[in-house]
Amino acid sequence: MSEKPGEGAQDPNAPVTMLLTPVRLDYTVVAGHHLSQYLQGFAQKRILGARCEGCNKVLLPPRGACPTCGIPTAGIVEVQDQGTLTTYCVISIPFGNMPFKPPYIAGAVLLDGADIPIFHLIRGIEPSEVRMGMRLKAIWKDEAELGPTLESIRWFEPSGEPDADYETFKEHL
Ligand SMILES: [Zn+2]
Repeated sequence: MSEKPGEGAQDPNAPVTMLLTPVRLDYTVVAGHHLSQYLQGFAQKRILGARCEGCNKVLLPPRGACPTCGIPTAGIVEVQDQGTLTTYCVISIPFGNMPFKPPYIAGAVLLDGADIPIFHLIRGIEPSEVRMGMRLKAIWKDEAELGPTLESIRWFEPSGEPDADYETFKEHL
């Protein structure tokens, strides 16, 4: 038997050592009850969370049960489209499908009324000026462009309010 790679394939008695199998998978994800409500909310310029009566936290995106308390959430609540930047990163390295030319900022925004931050693009401020605790507001797409997606918010940008005190968001990092 030959030791050269590939030649074994021509010997009908050689053991099979490799099999190339192209795979294609088409699938549909069903968002489920709570996540569907969350996504549909964006089409109406509303951001929806779910409150847990055990710990009183508002989960965002909403879930049917609180992962901390292990009990069903009490119901859907609307949170504000403004909040506090808890953490962020500056993207400086180009890659495919970038939303903007680098450098640009992505950050975790703790919306007023929510206990879990959402991740989104931050604009309207230079990367050298961005900081934890900045107050931000959502910049929504035009009414006709709204849809059941987080992309209904173009990005967040500074609201002009004074920075939030670290004590107010340190539990949400
Ligand atoms: Zn809870």
